[in-house]
Amino acid sequence: MINKNYKNKKLFFSLLMMLFISTYTLQSLVLNDLLQAKENTSQQEIQKNIDSSNHKNSQSSTAKENKPKQTDLKEDKPKQNNIKENNTSSTIDNKQTIEQTIEQTIEQRTEQTTKRRTEQTTAQRTAQTTEQTTKQTTEQIENYPLFNPQNVRDGTYRTKNDFILLIENGIASIDGIKIVNKSIPVSETVASSLSQEIEEAFIEMQSAISKEGMYIKIVSGYRNFATQEVLYANYLASDNKENTETYSARPGHSEHHLGEAIDVGSDRDLSLIKPQYLQSKWLEENCYKYGFILRYPENKKEYTGFICEPWHFRYVGKDLAKILYNNGDWITLEEYYGLPSEYLE
Ligand SMILES: [Zn+2]
Repeated sequence: MINKNYKNKKLFFSLLMMLFISTYTLQSLVLNDLLQAKENTSQQEIQKNIDSSNHKNSQSSTAKENKPKQTDLKEDKPKQNNIKENNTSSTIDNKQTIEQTIEQTIEQRTEQTTKRRTEQTTAQRTAQTTEQTTKQTTEQIENYPLFNPQNVRDGTYRTKNDFILLIENGIASIDGIKIVNKSIPVSETVASSLSQEIEEAFIEMQSAISKEGMYIKIVSGYRNFATQEVLYANYLASDNKENTETYSARPGHSEHHLGEAIDVGSDRDLSLIKPQYLQSKWLEENCYKYGFILRYPENKKEYTGFICEPWHFRYVGKDLAKILYNNGDWITLEEYYGLPSEYLE
């Protein structure tokens, strides 16, 4: 029995020892594993931390490395600012340029507009002035007789036939043709002699009529106011005023003052041309070719204020002379221009 117990005890202890060893070994192994695992974990963590640290450092170093770049950027900032400023300044420049352009354009437009307005205004004013003058003139012309030698008013006047009568320094004219009649007196300053142009025209006419076997000469050409005064007074001495004024003009109203009118005489007695003279017919039919008109034709007293004067010729130039000749049916200056010819009193 003892042996058996002993054996059992020995087995028990052996088993116990084995268990212990096994347990220890297992425990060691497990612990070792655990430790290893823990160590790995730690190492991983450490590595992780290291990595992380490195990454951070890396980031940091990158950041640090970039820093100068950032600094560069910062340094560039002024450049950027410069660029911006440049851009801004160029933008400002552009703006100024645009503004200047706009201002210039506006100025130009304003100038143009102002100019146009001014021109329009001036034109309107001129038109208004002309209209006013014309109205005044028209009224004055229609309410003739208008003038006497003591009341000559310079200005422009519209005639009944829409011609503009210009009076300058007391000398009236229409399109350069001087006008004087009972309504329109003339200043004595208008002339002092017969004009050379008329003398030459007369010589040409004289030469032409002489080829027809007839002779003419100038009996009376230019007359001053004093001479006309004497003539007028002499007629008045032998005739009444009403008759006298149908063939003799008052001083200041005679065409002879112009130096552009002539009284033509015959070759026989140097007397004034009479209707029955041969020269009378020829002159009436041909004088216009030399620039002369029969100033006081027959049956025109109502227009001219004068009876027929077959001896009195007025020089107006060939163009107007031909118009007034009217193929033998003479038109007077008063009819053509639409002028009155009556004394004021
Ligand atoms: Zn005469």
